[in-house]
Amino acid sequence: MNYQKILEEIKKEIKPLFKDGKVADYIPALKRVKPTHFAMSLQLFNGATYSVGEENCKFSIQSISKVFTYAMALPIYKKEIYKRINHEPSGNPFNSLVQLEYENGIPRNPFINAGAIVITDMLESVYKGKTFSKILEYIKEVSDNNEIDYDKEVALSESQFGFRNIALVNMMKSFTNISNDTTKVMDIYFKQCSISMSTKELSRAVLYLANHGVDPITKKRFLNESQAKRLNSLMLTCGHYDASGDFAFRVGLPGKSGVGGGIVAIVPNLMSICVWSPKLNDKGNSLVGTKALELFTTKTRLSIF
Ligand code: GLN
Repeated sequence: MNYQKILEEIKKEIKPLFKDGKVADYIPALKRVKPTHFAMSLQLFNGATYSVGEENCKFSIQSISKVFTYAMALPIYKKEIYKRINHEPSGNPFNSLVQLEYENGIPRNPFINAGAIVITDMLESVYKGKTFSKILEYIKEVSDNNEIDYDKEVALSESQFGFRNIALVNMMKSFTNISNDTTKVMDIYFKQCSISMSTKELSRAVLYLANHGVDPITKKRFLNESQAKRLNSLMLTCGHYDASGDFAFRVGLPGKSGVGGGIVAIVPNLMSICVWSPKLNDKGNSLVGTKALELFTTKTRLSIF
C-alpha cells in the first residue's frame, strides 16, 4: 500500500474542515496555538515511518498522557486497579463531576480526568515524590527517545485554571479514593498533561500497544498480552469520552484523544498512528484529526471492523 500517497490525499481532503471547530480555551496557554496546524504520522513494525504536515512540531499531549500512566499502573497493581476505577464508558464529558458523586467517588474509567487522577495517585503511592520524573522516564523508554519534556507554561496555566480538576480530586478524597496529598497529586497530573510531543514521537511511543505490549523494534516488553488487550479495549470504548461510540463508528480503531488536538490510534499487529490538529469538536476531540483518521481507515480498509 502506498501510505505516503494516502497521507497526501488526506491532507488535501481535510482542508475545507479547518473553518470548523474551536481551539481549547479552558487555559490561556492553549488558546494561543495556531488553529491550522496539521500533522499525521504512521509508525510501522519494521521501523518505517510515513508523515505529512508538521510531523516534528511538538504539541501538548494532554489526555493522551492517560494512556501512559494507565500502562505504568497496570503491571504494578494488576486487578487491584479495578477496586478504585471501573472499566466502563462514562457517556459524560471528560471533566464531569455528576456521575462521580452518584458512584461514590469511583471513576468510570482511567481515560476520563477523574480516573486518570486516581491512577496518578496510585503511582504516587509507589514512586513517592518521584512520580512525574518516572512518567517522563517511561515515555522516553517506550518512545526510544530522550528528547521528551513538558511545557512549564502550560503546566502553570493548568494549575492556575484547573478548578474542575481540583474539585474532582477533592470529591474523590472525600470518598477516600485518593491516598496522597491532593495538591501533590494535582501537581503531577497537571505536569503530565503538559508533556509536549510531535506526531512522529507519539506514533512511535504507542507502537508497543499495536504489538500485544512488546515494542516490535527494540523487542522490549512493557505489558503482558492481557494488559495490552485491556488497555486497547478501553481506548476503543472510552478513549474519546462521550464521543467514543462516534469515534468507533467513524474510524473503527482503538484511539485516545487530548484537548491539545492530538489523537493516537492503533492498528493491531500492523502500526500505530498519531494525528494532530488543534481545533476541537464539541466533545473536546480534534475535529480535523478525527476526519483524517476516518479517511485513513476508509481508504486503507484498516478499521478493525
Ligand atoms: N488537562 C486537561 C484537563 O485536565 C486534559 C483533558 C483532556 O485532554 N481531555 O482538563
